[in-house]
Amino acid sequence: MTTRFVVIGGGPAGVAAATYAARLGAQVTIIERDVIGGAAHLWDCIPSKAMIATGGALSFLGRSAGMGLQQVDPTIDISNLDERLKHIMGDLEDKNNELLMSQNVRIVAGTGRLLDDKTVEATHNDGTVEVFEADKILLSTGSRPRIPEWCHPDGERILTTRDAYPPPEIPEHLTVVGSGVTGVEFVHMFASLGSDVTLIVSRQHVLPDKDPEVAYELEKNFIDRGVNLLKGARSTSIERVDDRVVVKCNDGRVVESSHAILAIGSIPNSENLGLDAAGVEHEWGFIPIDHNAQSNVPHIYAAGDLSGKLPLSSVATMQGRKIAEHMLGMHADRPHRHINYSKAASAIFTEPEIADVGVSEAEAFAHGRKVRVTKVPFSASAKAMINDDVRGFVKLISDPATGVVLGGSIVGRHAAELISVIALCVQNQLTVTDLAETLFVHPTLSETLIEAAE
Ligand SMILES: Cc1cc2nc3c(=O)[nH]c(=O)nc-3n(C[C@H](O)[C@H](O)[C@H](O)COP(=O)(O)OP(=O)(O)OC[C@H]3O[C@@H](n4cnc5c(N)ncnc54)[C@H](O)[C@@H]3O)c2cc1C
Repeated sequence: MTTRFVVIGGGPAGVAAATYAARLGAQVTIIERDVIGGAAHLWDCIPSKAMIATGGALSFLGRSAGMGLQQVDPTIDISNLDERLKHIMGDLEDKNNELLMSQNVRIVAGTGRLLDDKTVEATHNDGTVEVFEADKILLSTGSRPRIPEWCHPDGERILTTRDAYPPPEIPEHLTVVGSGVTGVEFVHMFASLGSDVTLIVSRQHVLPDKDPEVAYELEKNFIDRGVNLLKGARSTSIERVDDRVVVKCNDGRVVESSHAILAIGSIPNSENLGLDAAGVEHEWGFIPIDHNAQSNVPHIYAAGDLSGKLPLSSVATMQGRKIAEHMLGMHADRPHRHINYSKAASAIFTEPEIADVGVSEAEAFAHGRKVRVTKVPFSASAKAMINDDVRGFVKLISDPATGVVLGGSIVGRHAAELISVIALCVQNQLTVTDLAETLFVHPTLSETLIEAAE
C-alpha cells in the first residue's frame, strides 16, 4: 500500500523530505503557510548571503588598486539591491515549487496542525479547511527570531534579522545586539555596506563557541574596520527616542545609534501545532528526536530547527532526506547511515570568511585529547597573492597515531567552500596522507590544505 506522508512546514527539511519520499514512492502532501523554501530562503540563509555578497563586491571594488586597476569608489543603489534580492528569492521559490511538482507532491498553501497522531488539518490561506489522514508525518515548522520583553522591534529603526533585506535605509550607525554567528554576519554585512557599527558582546570575545584563534582573527578585522566592540555588556533595553535608538547595557553603558538589530537566537514555531493532541513530547517548544529523527510517537518525525539539533539549513536538508529513507524502510538498521551532527561543517560569512568542521584544537585541549595540529597561513599561497588577499590560515587537526583527519578550521577567502574538502575527510575517516597525495589544481587556495596535511 502507498505510504501517505504529510509534511507541515516547507523549509529545507520539509522540501527535502517531501521530494525524496515522493521519489521513493510515497504519496506526499506538503503544507506551507508562507513560501516554499522556508525561512531559510525568505529571511535567513539566502538574503543574508546575497547582501553580504553585495557588501563583498563593494569592498573588493574599493580595493581595485590592489588588482592593478584604477581605484574606483562604488556606492550602493538600494532599490537595485532590493530588486536583486527579490529576483534571487523568486527564482529559488520557483525552483523549489517546480522540484516538488515534478515529483507529484501536493503543495497546500496554508497552516497545518495535528488533530491526532494520524490526522492533519490544513487551514488554506483562503480560509477553507481540509483534513488529511497520514501514515507518516513530518513536523518541520522551523523557528523565528527571539524577541525579549525589553525590546519592541518596529521594523524601521529597531530591527530583527527579518527586517534587514534590505532595511528601509542603510543605517548611518547600527548597533548589533548579539555576538554569535548571526550577529557577526550582520556586523560584517552593514560595515561593508558603509554603516558605522557597534557590536555588543556579552562575553569577552565574539563567537564564544569557536576556536579562540579564529575569533581573534575576526575581532582584529572588525577593529581594523572601525567596528566599536562593547565587551562584557548585556543589553537590558532598546528604545526609540525620535529618530535615534538608545541601547542600555547592564553595566551602565549606553549606546546611541540610528538603528539597532537584534540577533540573540531563535525560538521554535511549535505553538498551535497540536503536539499535545497527538501525544508528541516537546521541551521548550522543541521536539526531541532519536537518531532516526523520530519523535516519541514513532511515525511522527521532526526535523530542522524544530528538532533542536544544529540550526543549519544543510543539517535540515540532510535530516529530511534521511527521514524519507527511514520512513520507507531503507537503511533502518545501519547506524553508519545516521547523521553524525558532530561532523557537520559550518561557516560564518564574514570577511575573512570562517569555516570549521569536526574536532577543534580548543575542544581537543579541553578534553585532554592528544591531537596533531598543523597551521599554514595563506600568506605563502600563490593564489592568495593573485587574489590580493593573503589573510587567514588553514588549521588541520588529525590523530597523531593513525593520521585520520579529525577536524579543521579555515579563516580566509572562500573558507566556506574549502572546508568541504576537510569535511569529506572527516566524514570518511581519510588520513592526512590521503589528503596530501591528492592532486589538486595549481594555483588554488586548496593547495594550502595539502601543505597543512604534509
Ligand atoms: C539570519 C540567519 C542566517 C542564516 N544563515 C544560514 C546559512 O548561511 N547557512 C545555514 O546552513 N543556515 C543558516 N541559517 C539557519 C537556517 O536558516 C535554518 O537552520 C533553516 O532555515 C532551518 O530550516 P527548517 O527546515 O527547520 O525550516 P525553516 O527554514 O525555518 O522553514 C519552516 C517553514 O515552516 C513554515 N511553517 C511554520 N509553521 C507552520 C504551520 N503551522 N503550517 C504550515 N507552515 C508552517 C514557515 O512558514 C517556514 O516557511 C541562518 C539563520 C538565520 C536566522
